[in-house]
Amino acid sequence: MRYTDKVVLITGGSKGIGKGCVQSFVAAGANVVFCARNAAEGESLARELHATFVQCDVSDTEQLRSLVDTTIEKHGRLDCLINNAGWHPPHKPIDDFSIEEFRDLLELNLVSIFAACKFSLPHLRQTKGNIINLSSLVGIIGQLHATAYVPTKGAIIAIDEAEHGVRVNSVSPGNVYTPLWQEAIDAASDPEQCRADGEAAQLLGRMGTIEEVGKLCLFIAAEATFTTGVDHIISGGAELGYGRKTRQ
Ligand code: NAP
Repeated sequence: MRYTDKVVLITGGSKGIGKGCVQSFVAAGANVVFCARNAAEGESLARELHATFVQCDVSDTEQLRSLVDTTIEKHGRLDCLINNAGWHPPHKPIDDFSIEEFRDLLELNLVSIFAACKFSLPHLRQTKGNIINLSSLVGIIGQLHATAYVPTKGAIIAIDEAEHGVRVNSVSPGNVYTPLWQEAIDAASDPEQCRADGEAAQLLGRMGTIEEVGKLCLFIAAEATFTTGVDHIISGGAELGYGRKTRQ
């Protein structure tokens, strides 16, 4: 797959799935700009892959605006926006989530995407480009003790820009092994069991890789030119196997 000389903006590109996207798009010949909060990690990856790193906290709307401006100043166009930066808080019942925590997560996982789309669309309409939102399988099927996270993902599955020739799709991963997943493993009372459970949730018996998600995003941007408004599940079959959920 080639995406030669196209300009791609990826939020949260220094680690995990975002890094997988940076790698895939650079390998396909694209000019990639990516952001994260940690400058040392971002700059090191940018040097390694010949991409451009911009330090930016996507929860800060003005930083996001300047991220888009910097991309246009550097490359003069924008072909693809990948809204990837986001966070899954540790699992706990709704009683233990404060309303403030929920508001902060909405800012990070949802409002930032609205803002990034808003700032990018004038440029994407010129190139008839596309947007890819990193949602989650649990945005569709739900998840225990993730009352705050699930609605942030369900909310980013579809928007419509077809009248301007801009395609908008989402990608919904199941369990993908990333630093975020490793944090959950490290925090678990039984880390080995936590990792084994994470792997056993898929029919394929393993977690996905950041490279696999990066390649799907590249396919959507570069090849799936008749695809818009679609959620692309990449889950190793985690959602299959309808059956009893309670004991009697
Ligand atoms: P990760 O390993 O924690 O990586 C997150 C990336 O986003 C890092 O580069 C991080 O860098 C950056 N980031 C985090 N907060 C940011 C902020 N406020 N502003 C700018 N950059 C920020 O996470 P991941 O597992 O790859 O997840 C990526 C996306 O996929 C998330 O939206 C997540 O909800 C979704 N997802 C993941 C899985 C999975 O199994 N891993 C499954 C479904 C959906 P800094 O910390 O330096 O900012």
